[in-house]
Amino acid sequence: MIMPLTWPHLESLLGASAASLYGGEAISQLEHALQSAECAELAGASAALITAALLHDVGHLVAGQGDHDLAMGVDDRHEQIGVAALKDLFADDVLAPIALHVSAKRYLCATEPGYAAALSDASALSLALQGGPMDAGEVRRFAANPHAVAAVALRRWDDEAKIVGKLTPPLAHYLALARQVVRPDSSRTARSVSA
Ligand code: FE
Repeated sequence: MIMPLTWPHLESLLGASAASLYGGEAISQLEHALQSAECAELAGASAALITAALLHDVGHLVAGQGDHDLAMGVDDRHEQIGVAALKDLFADDVLAPIALHVSAKRYLCATEPGYAAALSDASALSLALQGGPMDAGEVRRFAANPHAVAAVALRRWDDEAKIVGKLTPPLAHYLALARQVVRPDSSRTARSVSA
């Protein structure tokens, strides 16, 4: 059971993520999140999709898993944990691309020649745990999802966001963008911080 995050908890979780390594890669979770968000911003994505890029791996932070699960051959289902943690704060335009970013990898492996071969070692290892490339029926169902295009875009930024030592705008820049898309009906805590 994952408790939905409040805005202050989300902020502190992201701030603390500078101290944890992004599973199997040589950068921190925070660097990976900021690089993903910057890729989205430079591509002209909406504030909601930039926010999804920033938060796509929050499930790793919430669960405190990652390398250990991977090493043990367990899929941590971080995309589902992330959505459960963020559902009080954000709407579908943020949550759906996060929910689908692992499926988007499986989709691209099935549909784009060379995509699987270009994955990092850690990403290739987790692919096997996540079910491998999609079959034809899964590809059709994924492509029919209204959020498929956003999820594939997020996936490509995720793949690019593993550059050691790359400078990005600070977390505060992306938190300000994220505040713009906090659900109007979310808890008083989130609204009072976003005011
Ligand atoms: Fe990621």
